[in-house]
Amino acid sequence: MVWKIECDCNERVGIKIGSMKLFEELKEFFDTQVEKGIFKEEEVTMPFYIWKGDGEEKKWYATKWYKCIQCGCLWEFDYPDFPANGFVRKFDEGIYYAKE
Ligand SMILES: [Zn+2]
Repeated sequence: MVWKIECDCNERVGIKIGSMKLFEELKEFFDTQVEKGIFKEEEVTMPFYIWKGDGEEKKWYATKWYKCIQCGCLWEFDYPDFPANGFVRKFDEGIYYAKE
């Protein structure tokens, strides 16, 4: 049996989202992957950033996570809130780590 990999995760990398146009393109891309059954949306369970102050802790969570059903990688998609940029990050084999 030949397993055909239909995703193109290998050719894609994480990116900073600095414009509305790019954001719309990426949102469209993720929506399409879900429609095609290549990605599925996952619950966001871990923060990409934890800030620790004096007895205080703040956590930032991305807007969306998508799991690639074909190759098992995880995509993190944080919508921009301009002037704050958004981003997309990729985790090979679905192994998550916080942002530096
Ligand atoms: Zn994939």
